[in-house]
Amino acid sequence: MTTDQMASLKQNTISAEFKMSGAGIHSGETSEITVKPTDSGGIRFKRMDINGHPEIPARLDLVTGTDRGTNLGIGDVKIMTVEHIMSAFMGLEVDHVIVEMIGAELPIMDGSFLPFCEAITAVGLTGLPQCAEVWSIQEPLSVDCSNGTTYNIFPSEHLEICAQIDFQHKFIGKQAGVFQVNTDTFISEIAPARTFGFKSEVGSLKKRGLSLGASLNNVIILDEEGVINGKLRFGDEFLRHKVGDMIGDLALIGKRIRANIICEKPGHEGNISLAKSLRNKVELNV
Ligand SMILES: [Zn+2]
Repeated sequence: MTTDQMASLKQNTISAEFKMSGAGIHSGETSEITVKPTDSGGIRFKRMDINGHPEIPARLDLVTGTDRGTNLGIGDVKIMTVEHIMSAFMGLEVDHVIVEMIGAELPIMDGSFLPFCEAITAVGLTGLPQCAEVWSIQEPLSVDCSNGTTYNIFPSEHLEICAQIDFQHKFIGKQAGVFQVNTDTFISEIAPARTFGFKSEVGSLKKRGLSLGASLNNVIILDEEGVINGKLRFGDEFLRHKVGDMIGDLALIGKRIRANIICEKPGHEGNISLAKSLRNKVELNV
């Protein structure tokens, strides 16, 4: 794609509102969301169950936590586990919507990005007059985080993610792959990949108030031998889910991104550091 072609891309909203509901993976509480079209303002969450219906824009500077999910907040008002719906918005190039919520946490659905994609594609997209804002970098950028998480970003006319994960579990181990991210490949190669967890961790997570809504229907659960709840959708479903999570975290930049991202052991904390570094670099125009 040439720069001229990118410049001609239009911003999008959805063509009609849609509703979804279900339990949040961490709180275990059921929430209902109504996603509505709008022509400006980016992606915004709105708590309809709180007086005054406070809005929380999906912005990097409003990230309040990255422990097993990415949370946003302003004061006491919070929105939990935004990364899967944000990934679907980024993957399908939805620039502006309002997500009205009754509840604090996005529904986990089947643990993947696909139910959000299907809901979006069912109503379709409407092009807006304004051109899409596309961010790219001119020079390579490196971000090193704790626990061996690294990101190296290079200029590219496309969004390409080369990721490697390394889990001390014989069923996962090291997995690596390269994903050209566009609306078609997002739906077919990334969106169906579900979140995963280890049976041995469930007790300690629940003690910390996490994973209270996790079940055999919304998380791939592994014991020491392998997956205990059915077949994988991809041999490297774990890797693909991590790539989808990264796309959802990068979506908090609020622009489309064209870059070649090479990463090892990506996670929410590192993804948000990457997004902030990328934003700073692009805004400084270096
Ligand atoms: Zn996830």
